[in-house]
Amino acid sequence: MTDCLFCKIISGQIPSNKVFEDELVYAFRDINPQAKTHVLIVPKAHIESAADITAENSAVVAHIFEVIPKIAESEGLKNGFRVITNSGPDACQSVHHLHFHLLGGEQMSDKMA
Ligand code: 5GP
Ligand code: ZN
Repeated sequence: MTDCLFCKIISGQIPSNKVFEDELVYAFRDINPQAKTHVLIVPKAHIESAADITAENSAVVAHIFEVIPKIAESEGLKNGFRVITNSGPDACQSVHHLHFHLLGGEQMSDKMA
C-alpha cells in the first residue's frame, strides 16, 4: 500500500515517535493525543479496518492484544487503560490502516460515544 500513511510510518518514510516494534506490529505516539498517553498500535501488514479481519489475518490481532499489556506496563498505565478501534465512517475512521488506540494515564470519561 504505497499511498497509506501508516504503511509509510511503518517503513520509516514518515517519521514517528516509536514506542514498540517487533516483526508483526509497530506502535507509536498519536500526533494529536486524546489522553495523557495515546499510543497507536498497528499491524505491519496492511489491513484496512476491523471490518477486514478474517480467519486468514486475525493472528496479528491476537498478537496485538498480547503486546498491549506490555506497552501499558512500559507506559506506566497501572490504573487501567482503554483500547479503541474505529472502523468506517460512522466511527470516524480517518486512516484506513487497522490501528488500535491505547489511551490512558488519566481518568477517562465513562462514555465512549
Ligand atoms: P482514526 O481517526 O482513524 O481512528 O485514528 C487515526 C489517528 O491517527 C488519529 O488519532 C490521528 O491523530 C493519528 N494520526 C494522523 N496522522 C498522523 C501522523 O502523521 N502521525 C501520527 N503519529 N499520528 C497520526
Ligand atoms: Zn497501510
